[in-house]
Amino acid sequence: MSEFTENNGQSADIDTTNDVKLSKPIINAELCVGCGKCLRMCSFEAIKIENGIAYIDADECQNCKACIPVCHLHAISYKSR
Ligand code: SF4
Ligand code: SF4
Repeated sequence: MSEFTENNGQSADIDTTNDVKLSKPIINAELCVGCGKCLRMCSFEAIKIENGIAYIDADECQNCKACIPVCHLHAISYKSR
């Protein structure tokens, strides 16, 4: 007979720091030169170019982050400025 009981009454391990919302990367139009590198990297066709500037369609973006390091001008980030 075991005296051990399972410790499922008090779970103190839940991290409730929900600072990271479901945001998606954005492109700083002032930095972007429309080279299209990020567009080719996006597997979800979420990046489009309009008037020579790239933008991310948040509805299409799957937040995979693949585009962020691709931009040599660091125009893609999660900052909302
Ligand atoms: S890689 Fe950077 S500069 Fe090129 S289109 Fe994308 S955001 Fe613009
Ligand atoms: S985070 Fe992923 S899905 Fe979203 S725009 Fe960048 S490469 Fe495309």
